[in-house]
Amino acid sequence: RIAPVVMPQGAVADEPLYLLSFKDISELRRLDRMRSDFVANASHELRTPLASLRGFLETLQGPAKNDPKAQERFIVIMLDQANRMSRLVDDLLSLSRLEMKAHLAPEDKVDLVSLLGHVRDSLQPLAEEMDVELSLDLPDGPALVLGDRDELVQVFENLIENACKYGQDGKRVDVGVKAISGKAVEVSVVDYGPGIPPEHVPRLTERFYRVSLADSRSKKGTGLGLAIVKHILTRHRARLIIKSEPGAKTEFTVRF
Ligand code: ADP
Repeated sequence: RIAPVVMPQGAVADEPLYLLSFKDISELRRLDRMRSDFVANASHELRTPLASLRGFLETLQGPAKNDPKAQERFIVIMLDQANRMSRLVDDLLSLSRLEMKAHLAPEDKVDLVSLLGHVRDSLQPLAEEMDVELSLDLPDGPALVLGDRDELVQVFENLIENACKYGQDGKRVDVGVKAISGKAVEVSVVDYGPGIPPEHVPRLTERFYRVSLADSRSKKGTGLGLAIVKHILTRHRARLIIKSEPGAKTEFTVRF
């Protein structure tokens, strides 16, 4: 930016003076691009099931009008697509709510031991459905952290659900809590599925990032789960550490 310098009253300059100022806007540009990528991705993700719903509705109105068998099949698919859209909208709302309160540190006393017991109970039916043994290794006493209980439930539901979903072949998921040198508490979620190739690991918490096309086709999900986890943990000043040895085991650790 070049701006003429306004001289203080009474001062005289032989020649007109100009001020040349530089401002680095690359960070602003990057944020702006991220925002528009996000809107484009979200719209695309919503448009796909919407287009499919419209297609099936048109078929129901026309070619399948008198075909009760096809109608039944289409209704199942349409319900599935509607559920996908509602999961996506829920996740988008979660993200936007979290963004609004990103600067507020949560301060309720939360016992991770009882919280994980509760999460296990709510995910047990899913684990059984996927034929995965969900095992919990918890200390006898409580493990207290400052946090927001509902948000932490969301974190561990997400991580354990992912471990069951993507590590299904490994047949078991181990969840453990341990205290580190009396100062930190770690919760780990381990699965023995195919794992994550190292080049993908740093990008997993990006919005809409999914490792493979096969994942997005065969496993239900929005690609927003780990982005939400990351947001919640940042607000809790906790870290997410991801370690994967493809073909052996994958570990997601939350360190408070
Ligand atoms: P999604 O809704 O797709 O599950 P997430 O943000 O929770 O979204 O996860 C992003 C991607 O990370 C997943 O699509 C999957 O490819 C990969 N991923 C997450 N957890 C695991 C895991 N335990 N094992 C292998 N891949 C995983």
